[in-house]
Amino acid sequence: MAEASLLDHALVRLDEASAHLTIDADVIEKLKYARETTKVRLMIRMDDGSRKSFLAWRCRYDDTRGPTKGGIRFHPDASEDEVEMLAFWMTFKCAVMNLPYGGGKGAVQVDPRALSKAELERLSRAYIQAFSRILGPDRDIPAPDVYTNSMIMGWMADEYAQIVGRAEPAVITGKPIALGGSLGRGDATARGGYYLVRHLAKELGLNGSMRVAVQGFGNAGQHIARLLASDGHKIVAVSDSEGAVQSKAGLDLDKLLAAKAEGHSVASTVGQGGHDFLSADHLVSVDCDLLVPAALENMIHEANAETVKARLVLELANGPVTATADAILGKKGVVVLPDILANAGGVTVSYFEWVQNRQGFYWTVEEIHDRLRAIMEREGRAIWNLSQEKGLSVRTAAYVHALSRLAEAIEAHGTQNFFMS
Ligand code: NAD
Repeated sequence: MAEASLLDHALVRLDEASAHLTIDADVIEKLKYARETTKVRLMIRMDDGSRKSFLAWRCRYDDTRGPTKGGIRFHPDASEDEVEMLAFWMTFKCAVMNLPYGGGKGAVQVDPRALSKAELERLSRAYIQAFSRILGPDRDIPAPDVYTNSMIMGWMADEYAQIVGRAEPAVITGKPIALGGSLGRGDATARGGYYLVRHLAKELGLNGSMRVAVQGFGNAGQHIARLLASDGHKIVAVSDSEGAVQSKAGLDLDKLLAAKAEGHSVASTVGQGGHDFLSADHLVSVDCDLLVPAALENMIHEANAETVKARLVLELANGPVTATADAILGKKGVVVLPDILANAGGVTVSYFEWVQNRQGFYWTVEEIHDRLRAIMEREGRAIWNLSQEKGLSVRTAAYVHALSRLAEAIEAHGTQNFFMS
């Protein structure tokens, strides 16, 4: 028997959610497969004059609710299967937040750290040349993902503008502010998670100061630590790919942020300001109230889930808890606020960027924060209530919430169109 793909694993969530809804089998059939995945080989000139080629993909998983939306990942292990799984997640994430988007994703199989800046720019432009017919503000809208950033989005937006012969900033989000990027995008993912926890604090039994452990001290991890600390919560442990630190009295965030800004690991602060050594593998087992995985996929798994002491897990990373670990946490009574809700602040502010680009009128950062908070609270509350009414985990409730919106849209399109006939 063929080994289960990454997408097969993700589809388990679709099965679970469909068990709690009365929906047509056609809907499930449609959501089981990517609508279209295009694979190309990008050929670029290297600085030494040689030519090198890289595999690249763009997947438009489902566009029933609107143009497909999803980041572009540059990673040596990128694969078609992973791109489709991530695009499936985006489909559900956009539906969870009621954004007028379907789900998509893209990737290039490359280690970007091995390229010069000029090579990286040529590769980014080559990606847009290859996929320009698929992309468009009403069709498919990329954004940054792992190892891509606003500088790369700027090059890509520029390449697209040259191809179509006009400025089209809404074709891509996560751009530099100077090219139509939105205020508030930098900390949007963490801020969305922060608003969610704050809004549901009473229901989650959180009162007073929480002890927080953060796994991964990059964009999402640093911002969530800063936001929670500003509300008086204590950050008792953090980790990155090279190590970890802990302090029962609370870590000194300024020291940690300064170490990262200088390119050092959080572990370089051991011995300063009461910071003690911690093995990065033990971060998930630290005695705390809230655990925030903000690093990579599958970090909480069968072998360590039992050791989690937190009462609440906020998934800022995508897919940080495996399905087996999820069941173990559920049995222990640990509440998991799932990725498709908890980290959806990022795509929500990307949506705001697209809206601002299209109307040519830009919002203040306060307006961005207010609108993000309102959406996180609205959808978080609906999902929480659904989980309580039906006795579901918050994750299953989030999938049910999204699936009912997707089903309604698929059915509203009619059953005789090309993709449903
Ligand atoms: P980032 O690259 O800025 O940070 C990742 C951090 O994880 C780094 O500090 C890295 O050192 C650390 N890390 C890597 N391996 C680790 C390990 N084994 N143990 C502990 N730490 C480790 O990335 P980011 O943008 O903060 O994204 C983090 C996660 O959040 C990813 O899963 C990403 O898909 C997800 N996410 C991010 C956004 C966003 O807007 N940034 C949006 C949605 C989801």
